[in-house]
Amino acid sequence: MSKKNKGFVQQITDMDGDFAQWYTDVVKQADLIDYGPVRGTMIMKPYGYALWEHIRDVLDNRIKQTGHSNVQFPLFIPESLLQKEKDHIEGFAPEVAWVTHGGSEELHERLVVRPTSEVLFCDYYARNIHSYRDLPMLYNQWANVVRWEKTTRPFLRSLEFQWQEGHTAHATHEEAEIETRQMLDVYTEIVENQLAIPVIRGTKTENEKFAGAVYTLTIESLMHDGKALQSGTSHHLGTGFAESFNITYLDEKGTQNHVHQTSWGITTRLIGALIMVHGDQSGLVLPPKVAPTQAILIPIAQHKDGVLDKARAILHQLTPHIRIQLDDSDKTPGWKFNEHEMKGVPIRIELGPKDIEKNQAVLVRRDTREKIIVSLEALPTALTQLLETIQSDLYQTAKEKQLAKTTSVSSFVEFAASLTSNPGFIRAMWCGETACEKAIKEQTGATARCIPFEQASLSEHCVYCGKEAQKEVYWAKAY
Ligand SMILES: [Zn+2]
Repeated sequence: MSKKNKGFVQQITDMDGDFAQWYTDVVKQADLIDYGPVRGTMIMKPYGYALWEHIRDVLDNRIKQTGHSNVQFPLFIPESLLQKEKDHIEGFAPEVAWVTHGGSEELHERLVVRPTSEVLFCDYYARNIHSYRDLPMLYNQWANVVRWEKTTRPFLRSLEFQWQEGHTAHATHEEAEIETRQMLDVYTEIVENQLAIPVIRGTKTENEKFAGAVYTLTIESLMHDGKALQSGTSHHLGTGFAESFNITYLDEKGTQNHVHQTSWGITTRLIGALIMVHGDQSGLVLPPKVAPTQAILIPIAQHKDGVLDKARAILHQLTPHIRIQLDDSDKTPGWKFNEHEMKGVPIRIELGPKDIEKNQAVLVRRDTREKIIVSLEALPTALTQLLETIQSDLYQTAKEKQLAKTTSVSSFVEFAASLTSNPGFIRAMWCGETACEKAIKEQTGATARCIPFEQASLSEHCVYCGKEAQKEVYWAKAY
């Protein structure tokens, strides 16, 4: 091995020994990000950003197909506007970044760098919605937002992150209800079908819902270490914001009414979920549908006559069918294998002089390492089919892991024990009292992830206080 190649593909930390360090190693070595000069900020490098773009493009399509328009609102919010909604400011005040000066002059009014654009949309809606003819107003924004977090981790929690935020206004409570559920369905579809991550769908408890929402719907996924990750939320805001911001419309009978609002968002946290659900000891494992590169073509003995020419011809032949790249750099094949494994490329195509003689190529699956020999003519079909198989196998494997890490319990002793014996989701009945929910959190560190839409009756009693059970709840320690 030449000197410049030596040691590039470093060992990453054992994922079962130190999962947090494994995660940090993968994020760096798969070339997803670099750290920004300000603590807690990150630079999304080409490979990481391409991953985000694939997720964004599919979701953006669905957002538009469901009738929404994209808009771009300003980065700054005047302090007075943020103060208009009390519940809202309580939720965000501790973690906002303030702008106090413009050039060298102190501002008359401080500005907030948007932690979310809720109030900007409300201010706009108050000025632009007049009659029932203006409704529904269905807006979405792709933007960066800032939250001054104390502890940060790439993708999972950073000072600044990318997301989309949908903000809609409707004539009736029911219409807003349909919208809230529709967007959760869209998120479910993206996360399960594109990211191959199974989710639990449900409603947040009063204690866990978005401040200012009537209710919050959520999709929750489970990571390799048994911790849950909130992967997308959709809020029914009722008329709370409309009352604070005076957003009204004149209905067909000539009566003034407050609008009913929703908001919904997903963030670059989903990339964190991808890493932690599918990744393994060799690094990232990407589902084909969102992988920036679906197959990497690696020539073997590329210095030999005809190998590179054949590889380039195959690249040309396959480009219309899949996202493929040829690695014809001067690194050794072994080095290339490791690098593209680290980056989670779903399929490796090996092509050497002997393969060319036999008119074949060797396909290697990233997820199972299975080797498949395919004739060159059959490559386009074989690759397309294999990508589909990998996509559905990744989902199945993740679903099996999620089920294996889900424990149903009927007593608090079992609840506490399962957190150490089998960390993951805990299904248990709950009386509906916030006091019980908080006591469980204090004593175990597990939070109520959601009240699942599909309710089971596991017992007649609350797992904590023993009173009559009202709901089944999924609990877990969470990111
Ligand atoms: Zn209880």
